[in-house]
Amino acid sequence: MLTQEELSKLSPLMRQYVSVKEQYPGVILMFRVGDFYEMFFDDAKVVSRELDLVLTGKECGLPERAPMCGVPYHAVDTYIARLIAKGYKVAVCEQTEDPATAKGLVKRDVLRVHTPGTAIESLSLDEGKNNYLACIYKAENGCGLAFADVSTGYLRASFAPSPAGARVIDELSQYDPSEIILNAPAAEDNEISAHINNRTEAFASVLDDEDFAPETVRATIENQFGRTLSDLGLDSPEAAAAVGAIIAYLADTQKQDRLLNITGIEIGSDGQFMSLSAATRRNLELTESVRREKKGSLLWVLDKTGSPMGKRLLRRWIEQPLLNVGAIAGRQNAVEELYADTALRTDLAESLKGLSDIERIMTRAVYGSVNAKELCSLRRAFDAVPDIMAALDGRNSRLLSDIRRRLDPLPDIRELIGSAFVDDPPMTVREGGMIRDGFNSELDELRSLVDGGKGRLAGIEEAEKQRTGIKKLRIGYNRVFGYYIEVTNSFKELVPDNYIRKQTLTNAERYITPELKELESKVLGASERSTSLEYEIFTSVRKKVADAQGRIRRTAGAVAELDVLCSLATAAVQNGYERPVVNDSDSVIIHEGRHAVVEKFSGNAPFVPNDCTLDCRDNRALIITGPNMAGKSTYMRQIALIVIMAQMGSFVPAKSAEIGIVDSVFTRIGASDDLSAGQSTFMTEMTEVSAILENATSRSLIILDEVGRGTSTYDGMSIARAVLEYIADKKRIGAKTLFATHYHELTELEDRIEGVKNYNITVKKRGGEIVFLRRIARGGAPASYGVEVAKLAGLPGSVIASARKILAELEAASGKERVVYSDLERSDAPQVSFTSGAQDDVLAEIRNLDINTLTPIEALSTLAEFRKKLE
Ligand code: ATP
Repeated sequence: MLTQEELSKLSPLMRQYVSVKEQYPGVILMFRVGDFYEMFFDDAKVVSRELDLVLTGKECGLPERAPMCGVPYHAVDTYIARLIAKGYKVAVCEQTEDPATAKGLVKRDVLRVHTPGTAIESLSLDEGKNNYLACIYKAENGCGLAFADVSTGYLRASFAPSPAGARVIDELSQYDPSEIILNAPAAEDNEISAHINNRTEAFASVLDDEDFAPETVRATIENQFGRTLSDLGLDSPEAAAAVGAIIAYLADTQKQDRLLNITGIEIGSDGQFMSLSAATRRNLELTESVRREKKGSLLWVLDKTGSPMGKRLLRRWIEQPLLNVGAIAGRQNAVEELYADTALRTDLAESLKGLSDIERIMTRAVYGSVNAKELCSLRRAFDAVPDIMAALDGRNSRLLSDIRRRLDPLPDIRELIGSAFVDDPPMTVREGGMIRDGFNSELDELRSLVDGGKGRLAGIEEAEKQRTGIKKLRIGYNRVFGYYIEVTNSFKELVPDNYIRKQTLTNAERYITPELKELESKVLGASERSTSLEYEIFTSVRKKVADAQGRIRRTAGAVAELDVLCSLATAAVQNGYERPVVNDSDSVIIHEGRHAVVEKFSGNAPFVPNDCTLDCRDNRALIITGPNMAGKSTYMRQIALIVIMAQMGSFVPAKSAEIGIVDSVFTRIGASDDLSAGQSTFMTEMTEVSAILENATSRSLIILDEVGRGTSTYDGMSIARAVLEYIADKKRIGAKTLFATHYHELTELEDRIEGVKNYNITVKKRGGEIVFLRRIARGGAPASYGVEVAKLAGLPGSVIASARKILAELEAASGKERVVYSDLERSDAPQVSFTSGAQDDVLAEIRNLDINTLTPIEALSTLAEFRKKLE
């Protein structure tokens, strides 16, 4: 921070810098000075460190030079992209008048603020992914949420009633924003902030309360859409606050009064999409694998899209399976038609392949940052539309016909771009070379003046050589003197009187003549004028394209949808999927189902398909036992994935399937430790289970993998049983449930709880080895084979032998006094009964132990003592 005195001593340029910088605290200011963007003081130190730039200094009027670093103007986009990828915000301050004609200090102004969630430049965007900015407004009644992708013009609002934490987290994990703005209460909410800090890579900033004030947000929204909140369906004041704040933030970063490319709001409502918790999305690896890669995810298997718009929409369809049978059937009909007609499918795939990013190029056109090259790629994309329309002519499915109707072949725009620009225009828009000959007569004239002038220069050169007899005379050009005649020293004597000397070099002299100067002003004038005219023509073409935004976006949307449908059809053909029956029944009946991703990795051993029957009646909860590695998790996940695929309108990896709409899929799988959030493995497990019990309905599908294994056997088993009873109970939840467990004792529940059925994944014992058959069968598993699997995993032979011995002893002991549920249910029954007196003593001592006061060392020595007694 500079003192008042220091401020007064600053040079005028630096004073201008400081006054702009003051308006952008916490933002890196890139300040245009000539051909560079310069950063000063702390900004310079940060940027030089982050981007490995040389830190220098600039005279600033103070005794010490101001720390400075700079980047050349033509490469600024790369540097901005690198800074925002690191989470910085960057304000770009431009010279807003021509330095050549400005009087005094050149005027400067910030024309754009770049932040991670507001990027529209392709360098900062991943074409297969939307780039969302999220806004969370927490109030007493709940949270208003808004998600916007300004690069594509998407805006969505929703309201999560209190307690909103889980729903907010679900939405955050669904949209995966790169930046989050929120009010203080949202930032102070433990659940929300833990998620943002530990589970997202988003950069968060807290806005002031006044940014969410009802009057402010109402005015912003009405200015943006020209409609009232109720017209827009924004009934929730919390959602309106989030929308108003997000629009104001975006408008401020784009330095626009309105966001020209956002023309509507999607209002999120319950009952639109299947609800999937953050944990479920992760567990099922919907859009990325546990390693956070696309490979190994459902998206990876289904993605056969050809265009960036299609890629993004497919991701959204996977993230948002539908609940409406009619809408699902609509998609299925289209996929089926494309599936059945190979020629249609391949023709369309050919047309869609490599299409440019219409949505994002349009955004740049609207905001004025597009170049002619991009507009040409837009035209090439539009050129594919007539072929696509022809292919879709007379199709049966309503959705394909509807897509056909929404497509606009845009002949005027194609013609405009095609005739305006040369085939391969440059990246820059201010240096000419973009506009095709014949497009604009004034430009053609200027160009012929320039060309003619250049021709005449050659003529003058030749004539002067003749006239003076100087063989080594040539006409050259530099920026200081313009055109000149150069004569080497050996011919100096022959120089005529009308030559005016301008420059002396070591071995030559440079001259001008009135004739040369006259021509020069014509040529240079025409050349300058032609460059600026090209820019004017470019901006007028750009404006015409931007004005067609509505038609173009509608077309882009239709192309995206078609691309996704084609992708689903192609994936179905390539992977042997079938169309499932999706209805409002309560059944999930799958015949020969497979895991869409695991089957891709199964190599030589073919994937073994399996059936599944679930409903809300006799087959409510399936208890699945089987050895480790048998395939329990795979089986349960494949059922969830088939349900999700079916409800997104896709075909499924099964011979046949009937899927009654599922409102949400819940999973509790694996040890997803949340140590960074301060939770132990068991605590995480129980938190997730409690969220499931709280939110599941009878229409949900619940997948529980080894619930209770994170604690002692009896605690775990008791919890597992109680949870299963609660879920299976129709009066409580009565949801369809798959429950994998190693607690074989739980299989007794089949006879005790209505709707519970035992299944096991079969293995065969051949000699001392086990063979995984991967088949699901009725009944509980006969044994665990844990030791055999450990052997397969390569545990040393001596350890395996010893484990077998211990197991045999334990089985012999428990065979005599096996703990069964009938015993556990009698509250007076001992949980475990031992026979010898020593054991009774030990038991009594254990009961009397005050565990809370034991140190770990004492616990260890007590244990050792117990064992001694027992031996
Ligand atoms: P654990 O109890 O140790 O967690 P699990 O019974 O849940 O084991 P999975 O993790 O589902 O076992 O499966 C282990 C491996 O077996 C999978 O990674 C997969 O490669 C293979 N597998 C599972 N199911 C099948 C199948 N139906 N066909 C072929 N291979 C399968």
